[in-house]
Amino acid sequence: MQAEIITIGDELLIGQIVDTNSAWIGQKLNEIGIKVKQISSISDEREAILETLHAAIQRANLVIITGGLGPTKDDITKKTLAQFFEVGFKQDAGTLAQVKEIFSRYNAPLLPVNIAQADVPENCTVLPNKNGTAPGMWFELDEQVIVSLPGVPFEMKYLMEEEVLPKLNTYFKLPHIVHHTMLTAGIGESFLAEKISSVEDILPNYIKLAYLPKLGQVRLRLSAYGNDRKALELEVQSISNQIQKLISDYFICDSDTPLEKVILDFMESRNLTLAIAESCTGGYLAHQFTQHPGCSTVFSGSAVAYSYDMKESMLGVKHATLTEHGAVSAEVVEEMARGAIERYESDYSISISGIAGPGGGMPEKPVGTVWIGVANKAKTISKKFQFGSKRRENIERSAASALMMLHKLLKEDYA
Ligand code: ATP
Repeated sequence: MQAEIITIGDELLIGQIVDTNSAWIGQKLNEIGIKVKQISSISDEREAILETLHAAIQRANLVIITGGLGPTKDDITKKTLAQFFEVGFKQDAGTLAQVKEIFSRYNAPLLPVNIAQADVPENCTVLPNKNGTAPGMWFELDEQVIVSLPGVPFEMKYLMEEEVLPKLNTYFKLPHIVHHTMLTAGIGESFLAEKISSVEDILPNYIKLAYLPKLGQVRLRLSAYGNDRKALELEVQSISNQIQKLISDYFICDSDTPLEKVILDFMESRNLTLAIAESCTGGYLAHQFTQHPGCSTVFSGSAVAYSYDMKESMLGVKHATLTEHGAVSAEVVEEMARGAIERYESDYSISISGIAGPGGGMPEKPVGTVWIGVANKAKTISKKFQFGSKRRENIERSAASALMMLHKLLKEDYA
């Protein structure tokens, strides 16, 4: 079972927009056991579409196309598909009603081009689009399927989730797939592989293990394929337990949960609170926490203290500490962390101060030097990191390292 994805639009080729549709579709197809063999981004020209479609259908059982379904002249996917199948058009009553409803809701005049959105190639099954005027289209061809979807990501995602994925399951009688993800931190991919090789080497051929690394963390994903879902779930859980035993020092959780959410859940379950004192991350770490609904039971806030003055007034860092050691130092992050605990009356705190770059580096403290502190009511720990030269990366790696330090401290305190 192999698939190809074709994304249509000149804007993709000139770099005006990034093709996020393919990545998302690829992930969804993979989850249901369909392998994506090729992704092609092409211009909205009839010849390009026909040529790519002819080639794709030689190789794949399923082709998913996005883009070019709008009412304007450059949206030619629908016409080209009719030409590909050598069929005429029919008017789809459901789509026409939907188009009329949308236009009357916005009190906008209904133009002939809008009515034409309800015209679809005769041989297609319409996939109703509740979020827009261009319907999705499902074509069958000698045990192959071609699906055409709007380019707008939220319309495409709605149609994939509601219409395409369930239909694919039925049409291709797909096997069950069970995914099981574990989060690890503080160990590189290759060391991890070495530690779990005794389990990985004897995995049956219907269970695959994937390493998904990201900023000091590696997610391990087990994917099992078969006809008995319950049996697969049990087997995968048992393998996960064996892996956890081998990597207990680095194991964070037995699900695909981001580290800050793991921390929030852990702290919430013990009625603990957290305050942050950030300098070079400028609130980025606070954002990691506040993106999760319900974080307020744990997260009291973050002081973004960039200047010396702010570090002194918001966090009580001593002026002498700053002038003696500089803002990027163990002494300052430790005072920042203590200040956050005391001033914001929290149980735990994190502090970060570093040189994100590209400017501001010094021989003894080059760009990428970051000090991170974590504290509980009784103690403060600080650690120096030397990241790279890219500002964005330094900010992200600082936040990821801070999360790992706090997780470690919590683990030690509540072991
Ligand atoms: P509409 O009629 O609403 O314009 P459409 O099917 O004609 O839908 P396009 O015109 O190709 O879609 O794209 C509409 C918008 O959707 C683009 O301007 C872009 O913002 C987004 N989009 C299109 N294709 C992609 C893609 N592959 N990845 C991410 N976004 C995309």
